[in-house]
Amino acid sequence: MRASATSVLQPLAAAGLRSTVKGALLLRQLRARGDTAAAVDASAGRTLLDTTFSVDLHGHPTVIPALRSRSATAHARGIEAGGMKAIVLAAVGDLAAIGWRPRRGIGIVRSPGPGELYQSTSRQLDAMTRFVEASRFRVLRRSGDVVTGTQRNGRGVLLAIEGGDFLEGQLERLEAVYQRGVRSLQLVHYRVNELGDIQTAPPRHGGLTPFGRDVVREANRLGMLVDLAHATSEVTKAVVHCSTQPVMISHTNVREDGGSARFISREHARVVADAGGLIGAWPFSPEPRFSAFIDRILRLVDAVGPDHVGIGTDMDGLGPYAVFADYAEWPSIPAALLARGLRRDDVVKIMGGNFRRLFEAVASG
Ligand SMILES: [Zn+2]
Repeated sequence: MRASATSVLQPLAAAGLRSTVKGALLLRQLRARGDTAAAVDASAGRTLLDTTFSVDLHGHPTVIPALRSRSATAHARGIEAGGMKAIVLAAVGDLAAIGWRPRRGIGIVRSPGPGELYQSTSRQLDAMTRFVEASRFRVLRRSGDVVTGTQRNGRGVLLAIEGGDFLEGQLERLEAVYQRGVRSLQLVHYRVNELGDIQTAPPRHGGLTPFGRDVVREANRLGMLVDLAHATSEVTKAVVHCSTQPVMISHTNVREDGGSARFISREHARVVADAGGLIGAWPFSPEPRFSAFIDRILRLVDAVGPDHVGIGTDMDGLGPYAVFADYAEWPSIPAALLARGLRRDDVVKIMGGNFRRLFEAVASG
């Protein structure tokens, strides 16, 4: 489908992107020739997940209509079937301003009016809250919630916002969304906002802005996670320097021989890991093989060690570029990591232990 330069992601749903995405997915399945999450013998992964905490560091089930692969109920069933204990569910702060640009990928397609990004984000938070309630999941708010909210088959959702665009330069809005349960803020996304520069557009601020620094300090004060996915390495270094807490990059990969602009160098990854932070491996690839995603997780482990790696699926945020697209197949990830020779303890940390440590530190200040 050719999207016009003025279209945004939401109206694209009506224009048939969803059926295009489904067609592309089928094509990819054919090209993967059995190298898929579904084809893995996942029993060892299932056993491991039965008794341990695991979490998706970044996902959008039900949030982005144009990229929705299945219903909210089907996602909730997948989360339960996959033995997951929690997901970080992210609203998109710049959703009303971004879209697909022919030959240039995702980026800004229109300039939002005053208040528009705040309203859009607010509506997404409402939808996310409805999803959590309908699924009988718990919103994770305090450090102890990760344990209590997910025991005895409970499932937790950590509410997040991807892009500080909704702040529109107003710091007090961070506490307003905190009151609504938001516990993770990704500073930037696909729009160069008031906080800092992004990986997919030329730098405009020279890194983190003074407002961005204020937001990081306010997040520290409130006990919110700071997520540096999409941020440049200059922003990352500046945030790590001014933050009193470790940070995460919820979805990325270590760059080797080119690759996506959204990938990071080993040095960039180490800046976050050396400060006690966490980096989520991201199943984004034009190459549909599941084993290639497992390779990327191992590359990240090689770069920063098993104490600083997690999994950020970007569920329903990747369209046809998702290598992992069904939560029910979550056990295939630990099963594949065990099969590649990772120690069980390390797999447990990667699937959720590392996130639990990070959130408990940040939330208890
Ligand atoms: Zn996302």
